[in-house]
Amino acid sequence: MKLPVFIVSLIFPLFLFSQIQKAPEKKEGEGPWNQFIIRGVTLINGTGAPPFGPVDIVIEKNRIKEIKVVGAPGLPIPASARPKLEEGGKELNCEGMYLMPGFVDMHGHIGGKAQGTPAEYVFKLWMAHGITTIRDPSAGNGLDWVLEEKKLSAENKITAPRIFAYTAFGQGSKDPISTVDQAIAWVRDNAKKGADGIKFFGAAPAIMKATLEENKKLGLRSACHHAQLDVARWNVLNSARAGLTSMEHWYGLPEALFEDKTIQSYPLNYNYNNEQNRFEEAGKLWKQAAKPYSDHWNKVMNELLGLDFTIDPTFNIYEANRDLMRARRAEWHEQYTLPSLWKFYEPSRTAHGSYWHSWGTEQEIEWKENYRLWMTFVNEYKNRGGRVTVGTDAGFIYELYGFSYVRELELLREAGFHPLEVIRSATLYGAQALGQEKDLGSVEVGKLADFVIIDANPLENLQLLYGVGAIVLTDSNTVIRKGGVKWTIKDGIVYDAKKLLEDVRQMVEAEKAKTGFKITQPGVKAF
Ligand SMILES: [Zn+2]
Repeated sequence: MKLPVFIVSLIFPLFLFSQIQKAPEKKEGEGPWNQFIIRGVTLINGTGAPPFGPVDIVIEKNRIKEIKVVGAPGLPIPASARPKLEEGGKELNCEGMYLMPGFVDMHGHIGGKAQGTPAEYVFKLWMAHGITTIRDPSAGNGLDWVLEEKKLSAENKITAPRIFAYTAFGQGSKDPISTVDQAIAWVRDNAKKGADGIKFFGAAPAIMKATLEENKKLGLRSACHHAQLDVARWNVLNSARAGLTSMEHWYGLPEALFEDKTIQSYPLNYNYNNEQNRFEEAGKLWKQAAKPYSDHWNKVMNELLGLDFTIDPTFNIYEANRDLMRARRAEWHEQYTLPSLWKFYEPSRTAHGSYWHSWGTEQEIEWKENYRLWMTFVNEYKNRGGRVTVGTDAGFIYELYGFSYVRELELLREAGFHPLEVIRSATLYGAQALGQEKDLGSVEVGKLADFVIIDANPLENLQLLYGVGAIVLTDSNTVIRKGGVKWTIKDGIVYDAKKLLEDVRQMVEAEKAKTGFKITQPGVKAF
């Protein structure tokens, strides 16, 4: 989600003035150590392997040195089976807990001026949910800004996930890019500045083709939100053929699947800049595409598979379309949503993604059907060997950083993924899509020590991963909250995830106290 293309191109000169507060110097986390042993944990390694354990995982500095099965499930672990702790080493008892690779959020905007969300707030919400790597699609606070945060995160001088910066195409260009030569010059400049890739919203076909080819030649990756303004002349299939490495959301895919039309059936009074129009009509798009498993549907899917193309659906960011009340009343808003962000979410004719002019039963039912067809495609893409990743696009449409990631996992589950397939999408496939699978994405010897540890089995209930945990009624009839990530480990540094979440809660409290703000529902008094 991001501003409509025409606005994006208009505001580039303002980027300098629209940056948010950078993260403060790191005060959190312990480590790394010369030797660090995580003891007795059950491992979900991210490759698709089933859980196994108990294992001891030995880390030296920030790399995995050894993964050793040390006993049988449910029995005491014999000391003789365990790797020895060396002098100056550190050990962490994780018996009964589950360990996964650090999560990758493939669509993570680092907040923005309009949302009033400082980087510390966004980073801590991510890290508190086990997200140790993000891709910033657009570099919305400016490329220099995000490259600086990326560097500080890589050096572990701030508490933040690893950052991959994909600059919005054309960002920083003095003139609007209207020729192939200008486009190629921009791509080379972007690579020279140190960006990891490009995020597109669409452009003229000749420019898209030349830009994607040049970008690929330089070894960079790319993402595209195929916005309606260009999609009639350049859809997902065009992009994939020209070398795009991942598609964001879903726009451009139904268009590639059209059989009895070449342009979406827009009502004649449609205006793209009226976001109620834009989102309402989008909800009728998948049913205009070829039927699931039809010849054309199969042909498009198989061609994308042949191109090793990544789909990053970001299901969660559209969920308010099929259930607005659910998204708006999510139980974490009161404690963890900053007042400025809440205001940004509220119905507005000017803010992006706040298109609730009139949103009710009819729109939600259309969107439920839209999801059904979309999820059918994504699940089958995975079944045929396609790479589907986990991205959130949080910070818009009532979706909160970190929490929305767990929701995205649940929505992949709803689409038909086995929980182990969900975790693989969140980890190994994210790392592959970024070209980082040598170091990240699975728990294997030689890779970096980025982990999520939780005191419960996340495969049984993905909701256990929410910062607020999952509701459990005990045998003695007491309601408790179970789960929430316990430790997030990045580069062998151990962060207390609940403490990070508490920092966020205090930031929100302080802002509320300062402004006297209370969360309201549209047209309803504060509560
Ligand atoms: Zn986005």
